[in-house]
Amino acid sequence: MLDLAIIGGGPAGLTAGLYATRGGLKNVVMYEKGMPGGQITNSSEVENYPGIAKVVTGIELMQSWPEQCMRFGLKHDMSEVENINLNNDGSFKIKLSGGKEVDAISVIIATGSTPKKGGFKGESEFFGKGVSTCATCDGFFYKNKEVAILGGGDTALEEGLYLAGICSKVYLIHRRDKFRASPATIERVMKNNKIELILDSIVEEVYGDVSGVNGIKVKNLKEESIKDLKVPGIFTFVGYYVNNSVLKKEDESSICALSENGEIIVDLNMNTSIDGLYGAGDIRINAPKQVVCAASDGATAALQAISYIEKFKGE
Ligand code: FAD
Ligand code: NAP
Repeated sequence: MLDLAIIGGGPAGLTAGLYATRGGLKNVVMYEKGMPGGQITNSSEVENYPGIAKVVTGIELMQSWPEQCMRFGLKHDMSEVENINLNNDGSFKIKLSGGKEVDAISVIIATGSTPKKGGFKGESEFFGKGVSTCATCDGFFYKNKEVAILGGGDTALEEGLYLAGICSKVYLIHRRDKFRASPATIERVMKNNKIELILDSIVEEVYGDVSGVNGIKVKNLKEESIKDLKVPGIFTFVGYYVNNSVLKKEDESSICALSENGEIIVDLNMNTSIDGLYGAGDIRINAPKQVVCAASDGATAALQAISYIEKFKGE
């Protein structure tokens, strides 16, 4: 039986592994279906990770993490976890996609979240080169420039207000003429003279060249007309997939409590509703969705898991 299984090898999972093994746990495996590093490796520019003074790519930022995090004995199994279930003795059964099953005393879920795609032409080609899903991360690169936002929920409007504080103008493109964001946020957007609403419209195409985005084509669904906006950046906020499928049972209920958006409900120590099970990083409720916060969650969860495992073993 493993002491600890960590599901996901992004900033949260890697840091959890570092703290768990450096804290004395001997038998710790991090299940990461791809290369360790997480979604930040999609970013072309990161400038807000403390201690890294120059602007780096996400890949550069994460390059040394696996080596450091595995120095104390953390093992990486490049497998996808299918699901996790509770055993009768309070330990956990982890089922891998190939069918193999592994038991662990404690589990940290750090499977992150995946921003949904807007579905327009050029979105994947220019992702990280003008198409972004993170205003806190990339907004500053458009200081005093015009940008566009796609979406009409709380995230789109709140991030629109944030970007309006940095950029010269924000075009807010929404496919309907009603927003699903909260009334107070809508009111603030309406009062902000840097935000121009483009309603009943969708983004048809993002175009550019090797240096990045040069503009977007926006289609008005009522008039069937096309508008060409010469902006260097577009932020898409059309919702998130929370990567919580590992927690789901056959009847679609979850082994621990989730928010109505599917995020893991945790307390300040990353404890879930189940003893020995922790949530860390973007997967947990109210996550700020930043690398530094995900890493911090991973460390907190690992420190909790160490105490839990000692008690479980009667040490
Ligand atoms: P993730 O990074 O999402 O890692 C989760 C990992 O779990 C993934 O590697 C995934 O492969 C793995 N996984 C998922 N399910 C399974 C499974 N079933 N089995 C095995 N493995 C699984 N933050 C900043 O602080 N600064 C920035 O400048 C910044 N820029 C960003 C730019 C972009 C384009 C994006 C998309 C995000 C950006 N972020 C930035 C946000 C940051 O990347 C996330 O907050 C952070 O990566 C979350 O870390 P995490 O470990 O919780 O999850
Ligand atoms: P969301 O509420 O699902 O909104 C997604 C928005 O994107 C909707 O306006 C939707 O349009 C639009 N959209 C979806 N797919 C699209 C596509 N392919 N092309 C164009 N537009 C598309 O997502 P969210 O804003 O990220 O919020 C997620 C949850 O977190 C919500 O429950 C939200 O209330 C909550 N949240 C709360 C706060 C807060 O409380 N302060 C902040 C952020 C998020 P339609 O409206 O037409 O469907």
